[in-house]
Amino acid sequence: MKRYIVGMTGGIGSGKSTVAKMFADLGACVVDTDAISHQLTGPQGGAMPEIEAKFGEEFLNDDGSLNRQVMRDYVFNHPPARKKLESILHGRIREAVSEAIEKASEPYIVLVVPLLIEVGTYRPIISRVLVVDCEESAQIERASERAGMSRDAVRAIMAAQTDRKTRLRVADDVIDNSGSLALLEPVVKQLDQRYRSLALNQGQEGS
Ligand code: ATP
Repeated sequence: MKRYIVGMTGGIGSGKSTVAKMFADLGACVVDTDAISHQLTGPQGGAMPEIEAKFGEEFLNDDGSLNRQVMRDYVFNHPPARKKLESILHGRIREAVSEAIEKASEPYIVLVVPLLIEVGTYRPIISRVLVVDCEESAQIERASERAGMSRDAVRAIMAAQTDRKTRLRVADDVIDNSGSLALLEPVVKQLDQRYRSLALNQGQEGS
């Protein structure tokens, strides 16, 4: 069966997880590459033995999970280390995504990929690009409140990500999440209906 896959992306703190939860509540299958990456680097995570072997035990917390702060600082100061870490994670994430997609029985799949535009990996399997968009001021406020990061740290991450205009240019659908959560729900509901119908039509066309 060919699955209908919507690739969802957006900048830091734009509301990807919030929107993903709404889609899941409406009956979509949500596959979140960030959540998978967290699992892989959590206690007993599948990537941890290789991370320990290649980086050393000082990168691990006592429970065996990745010490994100230590790794973040290290990668920041040793740029090639980012590639090393990515080479450990990317294949495993792709594998977990494929498995989750294979198992899915929901009418369509929302694949959350924060770097969907920057990294081409998932383009071939997605039918549409959905961008969660948000005023930059709201992004900074929400991301700093949620992650306990300084506003400057959020701004630095935003500067390293694809800019808003480029992201919007490749979007098939855009969710504007600058407003309240109450405003968000009907928009997600409408898209859910649209994706159900697109998924159904795809099946009928046998494509
Ligand atoms: P990240 O890229 O950092 O993983 P994200 O894009 O997944 O973030 P969320 O985690 O969904 O974004 O949202 C960031 C924060 O903003 C969360 O605390 C969330 O509850 C809050 N938030 C999301 N949308 C709204 C909204 N419309 N109004 C108020 N708060 C919101």
